[in-house]
Amino acid sequence: MSGRRTYPEPPVVLGDMDDWLYEARPVSGCTTCTTAKRKLDAAKKAGNASARFEAARVIRAHATHGADG
Ligand SMILES: [Zn+2]
Repeated sequence: MSGRRTYPEPPVVLGDMDDWLYEARPVSGCTTCTTAKRKLDAAKKAGNASARFEAARVIRAHATHGADG
């Protein structure tokens, strides 16, 4: 099977769930993560919570798009 799923790090909940929901660590050198981070910052400034969540989700899902590189 080729669908190996790896997770870059376990979710860390520091008490405030929103921090985890919206914050994400883009993987350096990953174009998809970098693009998503730019969207995340823009959505944050625009106050667009759903776009922000979506972008953060893309970054956190690096395991699913990072394998292509
Ligand atoms: Zn990535």
